[in-house]
Amino acid sequence: MREAGGFIEWEDVGPSPVPTSVFRPFEERDPRESLQRRRLRDQRFGVVVRMAYHERCSLCEVGYRVRGRPLGLEAAHIIPVRKRGTSVDVRNGLLLCANHHVLFDEFAWAPDEDLRVHVADDAPFRESAAANCVLDWEGKRLPNLPEKADLRPAAEAVRFRMEQFERFWRS
Ligand SMILES: [Zn+2]
Repeated sequence: MREAGGFIEWEDVGPSPVPTSVFRPFEERDPRESLQRRRLRDQRFGVVVRMAYHERCSLCEVGYRVRGRPLGLEAAHIIPVRKRGTSVDVRNGLLLCANHHVLFDEFAWAPDEDLRVHVADDAPFRESAAANCVLDWEGKRLPNLPEKADLRPAAEAVRFRMEQFERFWRS
């Protein structure tokens, strides 16, 4: 990194999130990493995930644009950052609309290793979600995935998520 307060280049932020080699699901973070650098890394992860999914939600394919600017889309980490999930590999990412990101974070749904949608067996959720297409996709493969197989979610990341999902609903 350059001197404090200086402009940080993408290359200074760490390795590119575009996969070149083996998927490393976890990331050791330097606790001394500056907030600015952290934000840039997250920002770059977001850009690469948005590009891979052509700026549409992986689940509902919504991709709003207002005056050409994409809105309401968020790059979700499949292995969460708080579990040391990587931000330097697009294969730990999923592009979701704000709605489906919240539901993903709350374990209302999760993709399995074949990237099929599992919906929580929770009656209140299912009733409240009747108007949401998440139920229409249950048991089906996520409709919007990167066409390049090596940009799609890594099996290891999805397996980790599914274990968390199952543990969450068991407890
Ligand atoms: Zn969506």
